[in-house]
Order: sequence, then C-alpha cells, then structure tokens
Amino acid sequence: MNKVDELFGCNVFGDSVMKERLSPEVYNALKSVIKEGKTIDSSIADDVANAMKDWAIEKGATHFTHWFQPLTGITAEKHDSFISPTEDGHIMMEFSGKELIKGEPDASSFPSGGLRATFEARGYTAWDPSSYAFVKDQTLCIPTAFCSYSGDALDQKTPLLRSMEAINKQALRIIKLFGYEDVKRVNVTVGPEQEYFLVDKEVYEKRPDLIFCGRTLIGSMPPKGQEMDDHYFGVLKPRVAAFMRELDCELWKLGVLAKTEHNEAAPSQHELAPIFTTINIAADHNQLTMEMMKKIALRHGLVCLLHEKPFDGVNGSGKHNNWSLSTDTGINFLKPGKNPDQNPLFLLSLVAVIKAVYEHQELLRISVATAGNDHRLGANEAPPAILSIFLGEELEGILDDIAKGVQHDNAKRIKMNMGADIIPAIRKDNTDRNRTSPFAFTGNKFEFRMLGSASSISDTNVMLNTMVADVFGEFADRLEKADDFQNEIYLIIKEVMENCSKIIFNGDGYSEEWKKEAEKRGLLNLESTVDALPLLKSEKNIALFEKHKVLSRTEINSRVDIILENYFKILHIEALTLIEMMNREVVPAITAYTDLLCTAVLNKNSIGGISTSVERELIARLSAANKEIFNLTNSLKMAVSSAECTLDNLERAREYHDNVLKIMADIRKYADSAESVVPSDYWPYPSYSELLFSNN
Ligand code: ADP
Ligand code: MG
Repeated sequence: MNKVDELFGCNVFGDSVMKERLSPEVYNALKSVIKEGKTIDSSIADDVANAMKDWAIEKGATHFTHWFQPLTGITAEKHDSFISPTEDGHIMMEFSGKELIKGEPDASSFPSGGLRATFEARGYTAWDPSSYAFVKDQTLCIPTAFCSYSGDALDQKTPLLRSMEAINKQALRIIKLFGYEDVKRVNVTVGPEQEYFLVDKEVYEKRPDLIFCGRTLIGSMPPKGQEMDDHYFGVLKPRVAAFMRELDCELWKLGVLAKTEHNEAAPSQHELAPIFTTINIAADHNQLTMEMMKKIALRHGLVCLLHEKPFDGVNGSGKHNNWSLSTDTGINFLKPGKNPDQNPLFLLSLVAVIKAVYEHQELLRISVATAGNDHRLGANEAPPAILSIFLGEELEGILDDIAKGVQHDNAKRIKMNMGADIIPAIRKDNTDRNRTSPFAFTGNKFEFRMLGSASSISDTNVMLNTMVADVFGEFADRLEKADDFQNEIYLIIKEVMENCSKIIFNGDGYSEEWKKEAEKRGLLNLESTVDALPLLKSEKNIALFEKHKVLSRTEINSRVDIILENYFKILHIEALTLIEMMNREVVPAITAYTDLLCTAVLNKNSIGGISTSVERELIARLSAANKEIFNLTNSLKMAVSSAECTLDNLERAREYHDNVLKIMADIRKYADSAESVVPSDYWPYPSYSELLFSNN
C-alpha cells in the first residue's frame, strides 16, 4: 500500500473498519440497513456504538456529535464528551446505541419557519447509517437528520433521504420492466464540482464587507481582470499549491474522493471536483469540503471565499451538480452504452429528465435561489435564470427522428434504430459541450450548473429526484399496462418531444437573443429569489411533494419562510455594512483628499501663474460624488427602516430587493468612480488588484 491508500478514509468508520470491529451478525445487519435503506434495529445499535467509540478513541477522539445540516445552510454540531462518572469517583468512556441513534440538540436558535415554537425548542437528530461516521477535530461525528418532534423536517437531509426513496421506488418499477429482476436499489449519484476564491488573509481583514458579507460591496475593476485567460488551468502558485495538497490530504482522510484541483477563469479562483458518489454522501462530503477549505486556507494565511459573487465584474463561483441514476448492480440509466438492450432504458430516462425539467422549471430555479446567487445568475459568466437543456444536436436529432418516425408510421425502422444502430454512435461529448447551458447532458449524466458555490447541494437534488420520480411513476403506470412495451416507449418519446422539447436549447445561453427566444417559447425567467420562491407554494408543487412523501404542505410553507428570512437578513447585514463603510470611511476619505486638493489650489494660487485646472476638476467631481454618496446613504438607511417595518416575509424580501439593493448599487457606482481617482493611501480599503492578486 502506498501512503495515499493508507490515508484514504483513515478517519472514517467505513466498511473495512466495520467488518473488522463488528461481529458478523451485527455487520451484516448494518450492511443491509445501509444498502437497502431499512431502519436500524435498536438491538444492534449498542454494539455499533461501542465499536465506533473504541475506534474513535484510538483516533484521538474525546467527544461525539450528531452532525447535521439545519436550514441555515451550514452544518451544525453540538459536542458531548464520552465521559461518564463511575461509582468510585473515576470516569469511563461510554457511548450507547441510544446516543448513536437519537440526539436532542437545544435547537431553539435554528430556523424552523414557525414549525417549532421556541417553548418546545427541542428537535431531534436521527442517525443516518447510510453516511459513514468520521473523526474530525478529536470528535466522532455522526451524520444525522434533524426533525421536530412532530416529525417535520428541519434540515436539508431529511427531504433528501425521502426523495432518494421516492426515486428509488419509481426507478425500480422502470428497471424491472426491462427485465432486471435482480436489482434491489436504484441510487442517485452526484459529483459536485466546487468553485472558490482564495485571498490573502491580511488583505481580507482590511475589508469589512468581506468579513461581514463575504462579498465586496464596493470596489472598482482592476486594470487586469480575467481578459487574458491566463489563469484558467494555469500553473498553481506555491501557496495555493500547498493549500490544495493539504486540502486533498485532509479530505482523503475523511473519505472524500477529492480528485481534481485546478485554477478557474478568474484570478484567485479555483475548483475542486470529487469523484461522484451516492447523493446523500455527496451532500455530506460537499459540506465537509467547504468546511475544510475554510479551515485549511487559514493555516496558509489565506481566506477561502465561498460567496457566489465576491467581486463585481469578475466571474462568480458556482457548483456543478453532475447527476445520474445507477442500480446496485452497476447499470447507469443515463449511459448510452454499447449493449443495445440498455438503450431504450437510456432513451426513456433521457426523456423522463426532459419532461421533468420542462414541467418543473421553477423548482430547479427555486433550489438555487439565494441572495448571493442572484448576483450571479444571468450575469455574463453564469447560466441565465432561464432553465433549458443542452442535449447536443446528435442526441436531439435521434429523439426527433424517433418522434417523426412514429408519425410517419415507420415504427419498425425506428425500433431497430433505437435498438442497435444509433445509440452507440453518441460521443461522450467534450468537444461541443455547451458551457453556457444551465442543464447539460454530458455523456452519462446531466450537469446542472445554476447552483451557488456556498449552498448545500441537497435542495437541488431533492427537486431533481422528486421531479424525475414523478415522471418515472407516470411512465411506469403506462408501461406496466401496455400490450406492446416497445411501442409504448415510442409513444412516450414522441409525446415528450412534441410537448416538452421547448426546453431543449443547444445554442448560446448567455445571449440576448436566447432571452427573447425563451420568452417566445413561454419558458420561465425568474430573475431573483423573490420572483422564484413564492412558486414553491403552488398547489401543483405541494401536490407533487406530498404525493411522493418528500415534503408536506406545512414543511413547504416553513421552508419558503426560512429562505425568505435568510434572504432579507443577508441584505439587511449588507446594507448596514455599506452604511457604516460610507459614513465612517469612504465619505471622510473623499473629504480628506478633496481638502488636500483645495490646499493645493490655495498654495498654487498664492504663488500665481500655475494652472489649478486639474485640481479644480477633481474637486468638482469628487465633491459631487461625495454628496451623492452621503445622500444615498441616508436614503439607504430609510429604505432599511421601512423594510424592517414590513411584517410579511415576502413583502419584506421584495422591499429589500426592489429598494435596498437598488440604492446599494447606486452608492457603489459613485464610490467606485471616486476610488478610481483617489490615491490608494487615501482610500480606506485594499483595491480589487490587491485582493485578486494577493495569494502568491
Ligand atoms: P468536467 O469536464 O465538467 O470537469 P467530468 O466529466 O470529469 O467533468 O466530471 C465532472 C464530475 O462529474 C465529476 O465530479 C465526476 O465524478 C462526475 N460524474 C461522472 N460520472 C458521473 C455519474 N455517473 N453520476 C454522477 N456524477 C458523475
Ligand atoms: Mg463541470
């Protein structure tokens, strides 16, 4: 074994450790719980807990925590030590099955959207045995779901697990129709590519906007941005390379399959891609990845920015959610494949996704709706807020041909083509891959690219799983009853192509023409969180989630409230930060420099015969800008007060969006124009150049 082999998963209570440390009966029982998604029998829990504790203590752990993802987006932990007093005044290290299975964090400060009144603040956490426990910072972390006592989900994971069950159930019906009787489970596989920025810590600490908001609220463009394209895949700077090496190591220890690390398009921007895995594990691993990025950056004197748009005018950061479906026997539903028998399955799965995305565009948009991501979607480097699917012309052509063939009563020919001839010809596209598409078929998976860099990937996959489960269910209903199975598949493909192909677009998703075209096609363009979010509560969507037992009406309503609350809280903090920056630093700085210029004019005049036109011009410009900034800052204060008085969450979010954000943008315009003429020793903050080129 080489070093990486030894390192990989060494802090994870994974399969080999379980095998080694559990009795065969307990091991087998636990394995079937994990594999088939069954619930855990409490009799084996004590044994598992004990083995876990002994192993964790050997790894240096003194504490344990139920590790969960409340709706704030970040992960939460509450550490308990293993110690338990003995009668003779000593202690022993204990961890029971009960403690493993269920925890009761004091959760009154986690958002519940009215689901859990604070007087009954206790929610509980429940062990998710399908995601391995691990040791981090001398603590045994047990991945859990977080619910209220009435069983309502208060976290990201519960609906994710439920949506996995929903899609498993319907996809199993489909795969059985194709004769694969041995399949026991269909899993969603996801590989999330994660973008981030690294900036120098000392420079970062001089920017209150980065500290409080994670993004710059002002800052004029540097003379050198990403125009030269010399950063993308460029040579790593030593400090960044050291960071990445350590990050990989730490992630490997935790069993995260960190695979590729490279520079991204913007200066100081990077990406990490893991090898794909089952979605709930991928979601946990992505949370761990973000946490480790932040922590390890600090050890290198760097700060990791996960905000979606830390710098205006420079590429933002997103996440690409590579999504596919695989059976426990290794069949990928979305792999065109060489085996002709699998091809109708592939085509059926393909049109299932097309239909799901077409019919539920808003759900995917909602799943990526945050205050931060609003700055990115629709800007030049990110996919637009309009959902569309890139299939590539080859694949679209095949589906079109099939649809047309059936119309022309030429079903036989098509049957053959669908089977053997056409499908193997599909290339795993990497040449004509369309980077501007928000939802692209990329060889054997779909890649959804609208996710913000800071968000959990759970929401998106809850939506995708449920949408596709619903369509699979509908297809399975038809196919189970069909007399001619093959022909029913054609009819389905034909119908999807006739009714849903408006969602397919292979062209430039960033162009203005596409916006117009999409409008003509009747596709949704939900530009901001406040436009998108209310649609989650539509009767259509509530029915969808209730039908598949993923979210109840109450849970949906609470989620909308929580997301809106998060949205306006973020804008509130941003507005207050900007007000403080303007009043205490920017306005005084401009005033001080104007004073200097005035003194210069007076001095020159006293000598006589020297031109003061430059100084006068600058004084005029800066005074005008300063006055605007001063007045707009007062308006911003009033807009915030007014928004804060609005009780309804949606209305309040709208006020922040329509008024507060707009004034902030106006202030920025004047501040940035002033920054471009005020000397750097007068300007209170490090410039974009200093921030973006600081991580050498
Ligand atoms: P890119 O060219 O976009 O960088 P790759 O084709 O190398 O991408 O894959 C990107 C991500 O897709 C990786 O995280 C990879 O593990 C993941 N991926 C590959 N196959 C699958 C699959 N079947 N299901 C889910 N994710 C997958
Ligand atoms: Mg990608």
